[in-house]
Amino acid sequence: KSIIRIRDLHKSYGDTEVLKGIDMDVYKGEVVVILGPSGSGKSTMLRCVNRLEEPTSGHIYFEDTEITDKKTNINEVRKHVGMVFQNFNLFPHLTAKKNVMIAQEKVLKRSKEEAERIAIEQLQRVGLGDRMDHYPDGLSGGQQQRVAIARALAMNPHVMLFDEATSALDPELVRGVLDVMRELAREGMTMMVVTHEMGFARDVADHVVFMENGVVIERGAPDEVFNNP
Ligand code: ADP
Ligand code: ADP
Repeated sequence: KSIIRIRDLHKSYGDTEVLKGIDMDVYKGEVVVILGPSGSGKSTMLRCVNRLEEPTSGHIYFEDTEITDKKTNINEVRKHVGMVFQNFNLFPHLTAKKNVMIAQEKVLKRSKEEAERIAIEQLQRVGLGDRMDHYPDGLSGGQQQRVAIARALAMNPHVMLFDEATSALDPELVRGVLDVMRELAREGMTMMVVTHEMGFARDVADHVVFMENGVVIERGAPDEVFNNP
């Protein structure tokens, strides 16, 4: 059964149609990697999934909930749909640990003690057990991105969305973030990943989707799509 279902999704900005009827299914435990040139609508599609963008028409479902239904409480959906952005979006005045605690306390109403316990656990999981009391500006971009991943994981998401999570990083810092993503995939996390990392797509994806100009132009298992002439 699919966790995320996208049906005939359209999105326009004024006269410009950026998504022209996207259909997609993401099944439990599956990693779907979305590839395509800049401007093809990948980020817009992902942002429609947690309603950072309002689609012009079409339907998106998360499990049995229609995300695109105006009556759906999107904050309930966002508790289960973790998102990692290109630019980390950490609070600069909070330590790594506090950054991972704050949404747990505010959104999930976890106690400080429980939020702290889970923050420590998740920061260790992404390899930052020795950086928990550092502020973002004392961390490399790759470490900041791993804090952002830990923050998303602390919410116990059913699915994780990654929007160009490594694109803002210096080349030598990309690997650590991809390693964390590979490990999540191995543990069975359901993931939608927009990336330019072809190696990651080839090795980790269960399903690859190529977008161009607002439509899906090709899709399939990596060994199918990458061997096509
Ligand atoms: P990708 O992620 O594939 O690079 P995007 O989804 O970011 O593509 O963008 C698709 C197209 O939509 C681009 O042409 C971009 O300029 C346009 N676009 C994105 N956001 C907006 C916006 N808020 N207003 C107008 N155009 C936008
Ligand atoms: P991304 O790397 O996620 O594609 P962009 O740098 O393209 O992000 O866009 C950053 C922000 O600017 C987004 O909120 C996007 O919706 C908006 N945006 C992108 N393209 C345009 C555009 N042509 N006109 C207005 N806003 C845009």
